[in-house]
Amino acid sequence: MCNFKSLEGKVAIVTGSNRGIGKSVMSALANHGAEVYAVARQDGSLSFCNDESNIHPCYFDVTDKSAIKELVLRIKNEQGHIDILVNNAGVMEDALIGMVTDTQIETTFAVNVIAPMHFIQYVSKLMLRQKSGSIINMASIMGISGNSAQMVYSASKGAVIAMTKAAAKELSSNGIRVNAVAPGVIKTDLLKDVPHEKMSGFLSRIAAGRLGTPEDVANAVLFLASDESAYISGQVLGVDGMMSN
Ligand code: NAD
Repeated sequence: MCNFKSLEGKVAIVTGSNRGIGKSVMSALANHGAEVYAVARQDGSLSFCNDESNIHPCYFDVTDKSAIKELVLRIKNEQGHIDILVNNAGVMEDALIGMVTDTQIETTFAVNVIAPMHFIQYVSKLMLRQKSGSIINMASIMGISGNSAQMVYSASKGAVIAMTKAAAKELSSNGIRVNAVAPGVIKTDLLKDVPHEKMSGFLSRIAAGRLGTPEDVANAVLFLASDESAYISGQVLGVDGMMSN
């Protein structure tokens, strides 16, 4: 696996990095030597990493396209290059068909689909000049198998998978790899409102016999971010403890 400090000299962006999977990804990349521009929505929510000199907190909402553009310009000026983009920020709200609101559809697609597209657009301009880079999009097992009460979320993650494959086809000949990670059920705040019975149902379908941890996902992202995966692009890496449909 990756050597300690194997990402020394690399510059990364991680969205949704103040908690859950994004926080673990941010720490894993920073611990392996990368300069990490950590994006979080809420001012001050990254103050816990103030002592980490290679973590640069950036506070904005990922649906703010001009803020994305400004961040890319800032990194270009400060570092000259961007090597890793992790589109991790995401939202999930369950609703049965018939109860889904327009706001829910619009917000879910704005955060889970449109924001990663804007990040890919701006970041790839710089990566194309470098002729190198690794983009990792956070999909979900639900984007492959679908799930009851998750029509909107599942569709958004299905779009993330299609976006990943299309971008990989277009960018890989220029040295830019694009992959997705598809977590199963990971213990984070995203699941805090999922009823206990539904969580038990999930657990019974996981062959590994336990829920995933943010670190399980971060390890997969670390691999895809590193040169250890230099010949891998357009793939969807499941991190789900063998969860059946
Ligand atoms: P989480 O709710 O703990 O974290 C989500 C992060 O996204 C938070 O930091 C939040 O502030 C950020 N975010 C949401 N909307 C934002 C916005 N508009 N602007 C900026 N940041 C915003 O959830 P998590 O479990 O850590 O999820 C991370 C990613 O993994 C998401 O894309 C999620 O869909 C995906 N995922 C999670 C699971 C799971 O079981 N937890 C499974 C599959 C996929």
